[in-house]
Amino acid sequence: MAKIYDEDNVFAKILKAEIPYEKVQENKYALAFNDINPQAPIHILVIPKNPYTDLYKFTQNANIDEIKYFWELVNDIITKKSIEDKGFRIITNSGKDGNQDVPHFHVHILGGRNLGRMIN
Ligand code: 5GP
Repeated sequence: MAKIYDEDNVFAKILKAEIPYEKVQENKYALAFNDINPQAPIHILVIPKNPYTDLYKFTQNANIDEIKYFWELVNDIITKKSIEDKGFRIITNSGKDGNQDVPHFHVHILGGRNLGRMIN
């Protein structure tokens, strides 16, 4: 994974409104939208609006407000989709071993069915 943030990655383009996307919700520091290739009935991506390549960089460099707003949006989506009791899965892929495709930090919120075991 490149150490320098790639300004042309697909989520950077979404943030600049250069490509279309299905917005679910946003707040001051984070944006949630539907995954283009859903792996479950609910498959929503949550990204920070500022440029961080992965979770490690986000936690290391984001300020406390950005971190708070990011996880608040995750919880708002869980509430909006009414999956707080039924359950869900949060995934974040990082780097080569994590098979991260898009080098802008994001979490996947998956739900709407039993998701099986975590790794197969
Ligand atoms: P990663 O492997 O980086 O954790 O996941 C990247 C995710 O982004 C994949 O689930 C993929 O389907 C999704 N994705 C890739 N390109 C686009 C796009 O242009 N729009 C949306 N909404 N999702 C995308």
